[in-house]
Amino acid sequence: MTRRIIVQKYGGSSVANPERIQRVAQRVVETKRRGREVVVVVSALGDTTDELIDLAYQVTHQPSERELDMLLATGEQMSVALLAMAIHTMGEDAVSFTGAQVGILTDGTHTKARLVDINAKRIVEELAKSRIVIVAGFQGVNLNQDITTLGRGGSDLTAVALAEALKAEVCEIFTDVEGVYTADPRLVPQARKLDTISYDEMLEMASLGAQVMQARSIFVAKRFEVPIHVRSSFSLREGTMITKTVKAMEDIVVSGVTLQKDEAKVTVRDVPDKPGMAAQIFGELATNGVNVDMIVQNVSREGATDLSFTVVKGDLPVTLRITRRVASRIGAGEVTTDEGVAKLSIVGIGMRSHSGVAARMFEAMARERINIEMISTSEIKISCVIRRQHADRAVRVIHHAFGLGRRARRR
Ligand code: ASP
Ligand code: MG
Repeated sequence: MTRRIIVQKYGGSSVANPERIQRVAQRVVETKRRGREVVVVVSALGDTTDELIDLAYQVTHQPSERELDMLLATGEQMSVALLAMAIHTMGEDAVSFTGAQVGILTDGTHTKARLVDINAKRIVEELAKSRIVIVAGFQGVNLNQDITTLGRGGSDLTAVALAEALKAEVCEIFTDVEGVYTADPRLVPQARKLDTISYDEMLEMASLGAQVMQARSIFVAKRFEVPIHVRSSFSLREGTMITKTVKAMEDIVVSGVTLQKDEAKVTVRDVPDKPGMAAQIFGELATNGVNVDMIVQNVSREGATDLSFTVVKGDLPVTLRITRRVASRIGAGEVTTDEGVAKLSIVGIGMRSHSGVAARMFEAMARERINIEMISTSEIKISCVIRRQHADRAVRVIHHAFGLGRRARRR
């Protein structure tokens, strides 16, 4: 008999209260009764993780990262136990586990640990006893048996990794939206749910602000070609399948528009125009773990040039400290910041084979008199930094310019 394992992941909003937990239990039981072996991964109830972080910061300004992981992991532990109990009331056998119990081994980097190995032996044994297996998302254990967590949104990663380890036929990601959209439907009422999207596009979209799935989890899904189905836990409709490129996708130039409002722009004035200056600034930022996003250097005049770059707002204090130090060392001028920016991006695998995509995007912005301050491109995305006050309107304009709306053709 061939085994048909399915991994289902339910996010925090899907298990936010007892009624929702019961609804999830119902869905899990139905899946089992349709002849599947079911492994369920759950996130912490509702906003539990945020609340726990909040609590920690009420006790101290600098919580130990080891203890933070110990604390945050309790959120998912609540969910798995409650879901198992709810399933029991429906007459099915279910058993809950922490990450450590099912051999989710990570490195030692607390609060953003990396997966090292999964020993799924225990899960396989439990499935063989015809039980539903429920695993706490977002957590693992390192070689010292200390509890670790996988970074915010890490339950997605747990689910994808388990699906790969168990060779599941699909990894279903249940969330509070119907799937992956061409743009955030709260910003763009015409936004359309995509039936399919490629790993590459989803990876870019997740990294560029689409909040459906954790970017790291898609990276792993792509690497092992884990089929993913993003769908709503509140309806039975099909959601979005994330898979390898399929032929029909070649015709679609742009699949989605994303917006990030959590970036800030830093400018260093009068940087001496000679070799090694950028290396010093960005080298020191990198050493301190600051991820620099877009970089623009102006044409030099009188031997000096202005250099601008963006970082996430959370990194602004450390960025400023380092940049000011390096600027004074290399004899550059003032360092200023600008938090009134937003980054708008378009993503699409078709950009690989179609030209004129950037021009179309810039023309649409120009017609609306929206100024572009920075631009960066990759093989399948184009990003522009603009004033934050125009951001929401710009998303609608670009969404329309590429015909992404409902019933429209996506050429
Ligand atoms: N509960 C964790 C978080 O909120 C993990 C997750 O939801 O995937 O980030
Ligand atoms: Mg959560």
